[in-house]
Amino acid sequence: MIELKKIYKKYQVGDAESQILKNINLKIEEGEFTAIMGPSGSGKTTMMNILGMLDTPTSGQYIFNGKNISSLSGDELAEIRLKNIGFIFQSFNLLKRSTVMRNVIMPFIYAEKPNGNAEREKKAAMALKKVGLGQEKLWDHLSNQLSGGQMQRVAIARALINNPDVLLADEPTGNLDSKSGYEIMNLFIDLNKQGHTVVMITHSEEIAQLAHRVIQIKDGEIIKDYRN
Ligand code: ADP
Ligand code: MG
Repeated sequence: MIELKKIYKKYQVGDAESQILKNINLKIEEGEFTAIMGPSGSGKTTMMNILGMLDTPTSGQYIFNGKNISSLSGDELAEIRLKNIGFIFQSFNLLKRSTVMRNVIMPFIYAEKPNGNAEREKKAAMALKKVGLGQEKLWDHLSNQLSGGQMQRVAIARALINNPDVLLADEPTGNLDSKSGYEIMNLFIDLNKQGHTVVMITHSEEIAQLAHRVIQIKDGEIIKDYRN
């Protein structure tokens, strides 16, 4: 489903050039639950942004569902992202003064998809039910009125709106207390069982142990890749 081949990423800051990812080779099969671990600054987010097509590598190939994505145009990439990839962030990235419902339908608004509001809201309602936010009266609340765990559920519902094959999560429990973190982790386990391939960056050994596979990154390189 996902294949990175000899991926390198460097950043130019002023005169200095720093190599952030070095020769990343990685294959992720459909249905896998993969945890990515590594020290701060090791390149985890950079790799995740490349997987999510939010960033492009300096060199190397990225094959997604059999397609070499480096040959695609910006519009084609946006289309794949919208349909196939759900992204979840540590800090939720919700529009704080917008309602739960509006946050969840946001991918359609950005994509300027022609679907009518009724259809958007029907899909959003399905996604909200999937993440345990089925109570309709909650959907009109502003997202900043929610608890952290609820905010992350809204963000996951937004990621699920198009029923994507892949969920990419960058430290999704990093801003949550341990109880909500555990609940969110269980939600990812459920979503994985329902067929979504999950790639999750985490600092938690406990969480990584629940994944099928753990990849450790250090200084921009994969130093360990094992199955639980
Ligand atoms: P991690 O997620 O593992 O903490 P990151 O992928 O965020 O690590 O960052 C890896 C390194 O790349 C860090 O040293 C960071 O400062 C650097 N970096 C990330 N993004 C940029 C950028 N846009 N420009 C320059 N350096 C960057
Ligand atoms: Mg990071």
